[in-house]
Amino acid sequence: MSPLAVPPDAPFGAANLPYGVFTTPGDPRRRIGVAYGEHVLDAGAAALAAGAPADLAALLAAPSLNPLLAAGRPAWSRVREALTEWLTGARHRAAVEPLLLPRADLELHLPFEVADYADFYASEAHAANVGRIFRPGADPLPANWRHLPVGYHGRAGTVVVSGTPVVRPCGQRREQGADAPSFGPSRRLDFEAELGFVVGVPSERGSRVPLAEADAHVFGVCLLNDWSARDVQAWEYVPLGPFLGKSFATSLSPWVVPLDALAHARTAPPPRDPRPLPYLDDTGAEPPAGLDIALEVRINGHLVSRPPFSTMYWTYAQMTAHLTANGAGLRTGDLFGSGTVSGPARGTRGALIELAWNGAEPLELPDGTTRSYLLDGDEVAISATAPGPDGARIALGEVSGRILPAR
Ligand code: MN
Repeated sequence: MSPLAVPPDAPFGAANLPYGVFTTPGDPRRRIGVAYGEHVLDAGAAALAAGAPADLAALLAAPSLNPLLAAGRPAWSRVREALTEWLTGARHRAAVEPLLLPRADLELHLPFEVADYADFYASEAHAANVGRIFRPGADPLPANWRHLPVGYHGRAGTVVVSGTPVVRPCGQRREQGADAPSFGPSRRLDFEAELGFVVGVPSERGSRVPLAEADAHVFGVCLLNDWSARDVQAWEYVPLGPFLGKSFATSLSPWVVPLDALAHARTAPPPRDPRPLPYLDDTGAEPPAGLDIALEVRINGHLVSRPPFSTMYWTYAQMTAHLTANGAGLRTGDLFGSGTVSGPARGTRGALIELAWNGAEPLELPDGTTRSYLLDGDEVAISATAPGPDGARIALGEVSGRILPAR
């Protein structure tokens, strides 16, 4: 069967067309690919074969997505229209068909050069659960939480592509009841199921990006796992926030799904009380910037959680406006995480610290074992789907990683 014979409602059908970067076993040149069915279109070669305009072909001939990201929304739309025509039209069928490579044969790489990486904390259920665990007896939500999207700056240089093993980090931690800290392998290694938002168009330093202009800057969405050493984090985070407990690795899915593919996933965010300050007030914004994306988390293949992104309190547009509220400029390749996606129900929590309540209620896996935190050899895989046209669902792919013993 032709690799072009992809049903319109397939998870990687014509309504999706996410971008990645691949190499083949015989050729180390990094190339831009577009997932289509079970195949990947060699996008740069397809542009040449289809006789695309030179400026458009140049964007797809790059070894990373950065030039395409920087090109801006009019170029993003032109490229997406061209890809749709090459893959679904009759005119270029013969030229494009041989440029679809079996996905299973390719190695996928980090699709763009990560500039700055920040991570937010936008799930009310997650923030409240962590508050109850880390600050028992106090208000679960800090006083600022409903007024601004709380976040921290992470380490861009340790963002790795899905499939990269994660070595259990060592660090300084203080055992419960101990007077002094000790140094060694983390005993409370966790995952955080998140979305990552990829910035395309920079903003000028000294200017702010208003809510209504977020879509001119944000290109698309990845799946992100913010690996977290809870024992290191709990000891170090006062008073400046997460540091070494999170900077050892952050895993990213290989496919960037453009915002254009998520038009059917847009949904109104939850009601906010109190009403946010004007630069964050998205009351009545059209289209809304909430996203109805359904995540799934698996440990060693066992489904352990189904976090609903639609419950997130703050949207990517508010995160963009807040990131730049002080005049900090955006750069092409900036990545910001949503924060752990947790819904209100237990089976929808996006991190082990909540699923097993910091070890007090170990999670039972179907293979008879239990987890308070991750063990060496455990593999965590996060996948997601979103509504597409005509009741179909499009896939965001998967971000996975296996824990290797500490060194
Ligand atoms: Mn996080």
